[in-house]
Amino acid sequence: MSDWVYNFGDGAADGGVEMRALLGGKGANLAEMCKLGLPVPPGFTLTTEVCTHFAKHGKGYPDGLEAEVARALKRIEEIMETRFGDPERPLLVSVRSGGRASMPGMMDTVLNLGLNDETVEGLARGSGDARFATDSYRRFVQMYADVVLGVDHGHFEDRLQWHKEDKGYALDTELGADDWRILLAAYEGVIREHLGRDFPQDPNEQLWGAIGAVFGSWMNPRAITYRKLHGIPEDWGTAVTVQAMVFGNMGPESATGVCFTRNPATGESKMYGEFLVNAQGEDVVAGIRTPQSLTIAEREASGTKLPSMEEVIPEAFVELAKVQGTLENHYRDMQDVEFTIERTRLWILQTRGGKRTTNAALKIAVDMVAEGLIDEREAVRRIDPAQLDQLLHPMLDPEADRDILGHGLPASPGAASGKVVFNTEDAEAWVARGERVILVREETSPEDIGGMYVAEGIVTVRGGMTSHAAVVARGMGKPCVAGASELGVDTKAKTLTAGDRVVREGDRITIDGAAGAVMLGAVPTIRPEVTGDFAKLMAWVDEIRTLGVRANAETPEDALTALEFGAEGIGLSRTEHMFFDPERIVHMREMILADTEAERRGALGKLLPYQRQDFAALFEIMDGLPVTIRLLDPPLHEFLPHTADEMVEVATALGTTADEVRLRALRLREANPMLGHRGCRLGITYPEIYEVQARAIFEAAAAVVAKGQKVVPEVMIPLVSVTAEYTILAELVDTVAAEVMKETATEIPYLVGTMIELPRACLLAGEIAKSAQFFSFGTNDLTQTAYGLSRDDSGSFLAAYHDKGIIPIDPFVSIDVEGVGELVRLGVKRGRAVRPDLKIGICGEHGGDPASVRFFQDAGLDYVSCSPFRVPIARIAAAQAALGEAVEIDA
Ligand code: ADP
Ligand code: MG
Ligand code: MG
Repeated sequence: MSDWVYNFGDGAADGGVEMRALLGGKGANLAEMCKLGLPVPPGFTLTTEVCTHFAKHGKGYPDGLEAEVARALKRIEEIMETRFGDPERPLLVSVRSGGRASMPGMMDTVLNLGLNDETVEGLARGSGDARFATDSYRRFVQMYADVVLGVDHGHFEDRLQWHKEDKGYALDTELGADDWRILLAAYEGVIREHLGRDFPQDPNEQLWGAIGAVFGSWMNPRAITYRKLHGIPEDWGTAVTVQAMVFGNMGPESATGVCFTRNPATGESKMYGEFLVNAQGEDVVAGIRTPQSLTIAEREASGTKLPSMEEVIPEAFVELAKVQGTLENHYRDMQDVEFTIERTRLWILQTRGGKRTTNAALKIAVDMVAEGLIDEREAVRRIDPAQLDQLLHPMLDPEADRDILGHGLPASPGAASGKVVFNTEDAEAWVARGERVILVREETSPEDIGGMYVAEGIVTVRGGMTSHAAVVARGMGKPCVAGASELGVDTKAKTLTAGDRVVREGDRITIDGAAGAVMLGAVPTIRPEVTGDFAKLMAWVDEIRTLGVRANAETPEDALTALEFGAEGIGLSRTEHMFFDPERIVHMREMILADTEAERRGALGKLLPYQRQDFAALFEIMDGLPVTIRLLDPPLHEFLPHTADEMVEVATALGTTADEVRLRALRLREANPMLGHRGCRLGITYPEIYEVQARAIFEAAAAVVAKGQKVVPEVMIPLVSVTAEYTILAELVDTVAAEVMKETATEIPYLVGTMIELPRACLLAGEIAKSAQFFSFGTNDLTQTAYGLSRDDSGSFLAAYHDKGIIPIDPFVSIDVEGVGELVRLGVKRGRAVRPDLKIGICGEHGGDPASVRFFQDAGLDYVSCSPFRVPIARIAAAQAALGEAVEIDA
């Protein structure tokens, strides 16, 4: 064994699967398969450290590498009984790239390296098949020219196409040796024309050319950008594997193909795959010819006439069936296997963990536990929580017809139908009449919150994945298609156009937020359920996890969904969302626009019964589970009347004029509402608002207790930055609680606590914790205020920051561990130092993001709270966090 080069072949190998970091996924698994005694052509792998050396030393190699490669090549020659460059029995090799994570943008594989004008004749004589030899040579010239010499493969494709047309051939397999010789001459011409030199004839020059191209591709701009975006460290490097060629293009009993050890779409435990007779390399995926099934059963199921591998090359099929069993038992996971058959003899060229659909992933994990291949913990570890998103929203009925109008970005998953409306007022008005609507906008702004809230789903024609519409819709758990630039919207004329089709206000459309599709008409949807394999897995998840999972919910519908998905309480109930209902918004506006405390109390008196009713419904549904209720938080202007009609309506209620209402509304304008008169600042200036809300909470609790249920209200005070804000308002809540308990003669256990969502609150957490009974980190606002970055305005530049790799991951989607996370850790430390049993949760959007959940577990939080539809995702992420590192997905 040497430092830089690892051999494999003939039932032995220098490395194995545990050396993935050094040998790359492909190289490590080839070595592993050799040790398992599987038929793998011999070869060697240049390690990822050679790549790092190459990058650091101006494309230079470590001392002695050349000699090591020569020695490794000699080993292959001995096993294969051929020689590199030998005119009679030439050894041919493939040069393959493979890092520890699969990475597009890296150099492609070069096959048949070692062929030249002389060795091609030796290959023809040795195999007795001149067609095969010339076919291999032309493939090599084309691949090498493309990936190493940089001559676009289109030039070669053109020559091939012209020749086929000339001769009237349909398939490449119809070309004979003479055809390929003519084409090889043409290819020579192409190369001379583009490079001013001949195709390299020296096999050693070819080999080092290919190796250098692979290592060089690690530093190409596409690969560098990809790494930045996916957080792959520069120093991982790629490995290069050089391997003896075996040939699937040696006639009717030769073939190449791909085999999955289980069905990757359904998870069914049956071998599945495709192959092509008399073909090489990537012909199967290239789609030039139609691949054939592996098994008779599969051929029958697909209804094709082309015979299966089981029928065409039965001896190799039996062998493959054995190999796939060995591989699955060894890796204890579904494998994606690349193989080649040379004159009935099977060779295995690659294995890796197979990609699979979410349903297949669940079935395979659960089945493998039943088969005793893995334990429950491993099954839980194998599920990608983010992938579950697909299963947790209403989905389009797969059987239903759909008439697609256009596509946009899959901004927020789920499917919904409704009548098209073009602005918030219309959305609210139509919904008030009992209609279901889809809000269609050019793009959305905070003004549209009300409309988004009542709509079934949202479509915008402009904006990206972090646009206002996308972020807000995800937060609300509503389907959204953003940036549907194929569609035109005219909000004045109230039309949506798709080519020459026009959709008008009130026409019905359906959107699929997971696919980014907008469809005409109502397409039926199906509700998600946690049943079968999914339910089984979730039971294991709950055994493992230690972090609590709650939901953000304010409507009875959301609370029910949350319970169904396994939430252990409500971590955030936003009281203001309850006011958007058309029946209530008038009173809300009355309250906001009141000039005196008396006027304000009058309006609040009208809102109180609604609030009480809402809270009672939540308490009843949650039946003894904790319910955290946040007192009024947003800037008041979000509720202001817009239209003349609305002004008049509020004026009448207040007994004043519309002009007066307009004036008062103007006075409420703020330059920067996010940092303005909101949160507990409202409670400090208008204590009666919080007082009435607290009364509603405790009266509701008393009523539910009277019915014999248990209730645990947790009253939460938002946006605290000064300790006194908290102590004043907590005292107010305690006073109301005591009053209500006395009036109703009911004992209600409750907590008062605060949101920690401003950097100052994190710093003063020790002070605040002296009186606060719980903390809930509001990581949305904490992110905005830590960065000094408004989420609503960041869409225009955050994309550029992302593309340049400055802020690779949107901090509103996944918590910024080093900055915002540090504030969270500080808050936890200072709070718990004062009150060791301080209950701490988090209720921002991050509560449903798997990477963030891992951080929150690590930071010592008691629970995360997220949108009801993400509760199962958070549960799995929490279990995986408890298990430690998730498995590295195979390349
Ligand atoms: P990728 O990473 O794109 O899958 P590979 O290195 O696996 O690239 O090569 C692609 C295909 O080329 C393989 O699936 C296999 O069919 C073929 N191939 C690679 N090396 C050899 C070899 N030594 N003999 C025969 N075919 C090979
Ligand atoms: Mg491959
Ligand atoms: Mg907040």
